[in-house]
Amino acid sequence: VDNINKQQEEETAKYQGAEDNSPLIEFKGVTKRFGDTCVMDEMDLKMKAGDRLVIIGPSGSGKSTLLRVLMGLEKIDKGEIFFGSNPYITVDRKGRTRTDMSVRSKIGMVFQHYTLFPHLSVMSNLTLSPVKVRGMARSEAEDRAREYLARLGMEDKLYSYPGKLSGGQKQRVAIARALMLEPKLMLFDEVTSALDPEMVAEIEKVMLDLAKQKMAMMIVTHDMYFAKKIATESVFIAGGKVIEKCDPEIMFNEPKQERTRDFLDKVL
Ligand code: ADP
Ligand code: MG
Repeated sequence: VDNINKQQEEETAKYQGAEDNSPLIEFKGVTKRFGDTCVMDEMDLKMKAGDRLVIIGPSGSGKSTLLRVLMGLEKIDKGEIFFGSNPYITVDRKGRTRTDMSVRSKIGMVFQHYTLFPHLSVMSNLTLSPVKVRGMARSEAEDRAREYLARLGMEDKLYSYPGKLSGGQKQRVAIARALMLEPKLMLFDEVTSALDPEMVAEIEKVMLDLAKQKMAMMIVTHDMYFAKKIATESVFIAGGKVIEKCDPEIMFNEPKQERTRDFLDKVL
């Protein structure tokens, strides 16, 4: 029992600094267009360090784009994004997006569709980026890979190839791969949408375990029951704007905005 408590303490400590009330992420007037489509219209959005922010909104409302912007995968047209008190993504005078790569490396993302390298073993998928990009010693990366896979109940799949894994196992590896880089923030974009129902629960459990360890997360999901369970904050976006941001209890039980109510009536 002592051992378990100690382990939990260590795990909690792992993501600390993550518990105060200061903003971890702040979007200030962020505009993002694809041609004539304005996906983010001078959007403001704040997330505190200890939060698990669930993002809901109609299909095409820009949920994936928001996460991809935060991951440095999409440029923005206007505005700025802060990470803590540091400018993270900005637009220079010539309209070019500037990204602070040292901040970028503190954010991990898991996508709806499995993004493992099919020609690499699970071990190589996990160690590639820590070794090649971070310059971590291979032996350390391999130790860490074993540790994370064990934590996700997949230690026996270290040398399997992605093609031999179930969808749920692939997503667990994708989560482990993101965790290998010790992110301060994890982004999840509909990570259970492509899974068979029996595999959804296993991925949700992994995410709930991360929540217990105080990992800051932004989560896009269609599963409103899971959203309610994991969220400390929730936001409804539509038309490029934040329509409502509130406690999940309020969002899912008595949302203030009519557009939020209409949306939730359709999906709940
Ligand atoms: P959601 O994840 O909420 O369904 P998305 O962020 O995927 O929404 O898309 C928001 C809008 O931006 C949609 O109208 C979509 O067609 C458009 N869009 C997304 N990515 C691109 C792209 N790479 N090029 C052009 N349009 C895009
Ligand atoms: Mg999407």
